[in-house]
Amino acid sequence: MHRHTALVVGVMGFSLMLGCAGEPGTGTAEALEESADAFSTTPGEPNHEEITGTALSFLKPEVIKALTIGNVSTDAEFHFSNAAHFDDCNFSGGAAFVAKKQAEAVKALDPRVALLNGDALAMLAFSRSLHAVQDFYAHSNWVELGGDVLVDQSLTPFPALRPYSAVRSTGFIVVQGPKPREKAVTRDDDAPYPDYAIVTVRERRTTAYGLVSGTVDYESGDFCPPPVAMTHDELSKDKTSLTDRVEQHLAAKSLAVRQTRHEWCRLNQLVHDAWGDAGTARLAAWVADPSSAPDCTTE
Ligand SMILES: [Zn+2]
Repeated sequence: MHRHTALVVGVMGFSLMLGCAGEPGTGTAEALEESADAFSTTPGEPNHEEITGTALSFLKPEVIKALTIGNVSTDAEFHFSNAAHFDDCNFSGGAAFVAKKQAEAVKALDPRVALLNGDALAMLAFSRSLHAVQDFYAHSNWVELGGDVLVDQSLTPFPALRPYSAVRSTGFIVVQGPKPREKAVTRDDDAPYPDYAIVTVRERRTTAYGLVSGTVDYESGDFCPPPVAMTHDELSKDKTSLTDRVEQHLAAKSLAVRQTRHEWCRLNQLVHDAWGDAGTARLAAWVADPSSAPDCTTE
């Protein structure tokens, strides 16, 4: 999920993955592979791959492959963008990135767009949005704050996460940018993990939890207010090798799987809103096993 070594291992990881994919690529997958000229994953820790494959196991293998390649290549293609990884407390940017990429996917699924081209573009754009929502749970303190529900479960476009607004599902306050004068934002820097990751936002007599993410120095723009800022390494739980936070890693991964399944439902809804049954049919062609697809009326 993170990528300090991403550019170095990129080419190797890419050829490794192609080497063990087992199946000759379809036209769609090949087009995506070409666009994914740099490819990255933490060696031995294929988290985005596992999350995507588990959540969307009902899709055709070539679609899962295309979505996985697009997802993982986000680390290289958007290496310097904190929005694409929900780093640096850039929650509004991350949310806008998800909404924008999904809007691009919907546009590419216009029934008037040639089937293969449109599908390849849609898969790539959708996979970018999946990368970001998966990183959200690994890079923020959602799990440490006790967040055990999804950040968003609507079927409308991914919502804006505005600075110092409350996230609808949990009431966590989005800590981004300088704090408003009337609020106090604190955390206990000396406490052991996970307690040091608990951020509190107080305003008069009300107290709420504050949502932050880790800072990454090579990405421009740091929106974490200094008193509560934590580095990426202090907060991320994107590897099982971080032995002090295995439980949090698994919790983040499980939420990422659920959010990814939910994003499939959102994409279906947005495509239906835009293109009606022709759009729905186009996405249905990605599915291998409808019986294990999520029931999007309840998911
Ligand atoms: Zn990332």
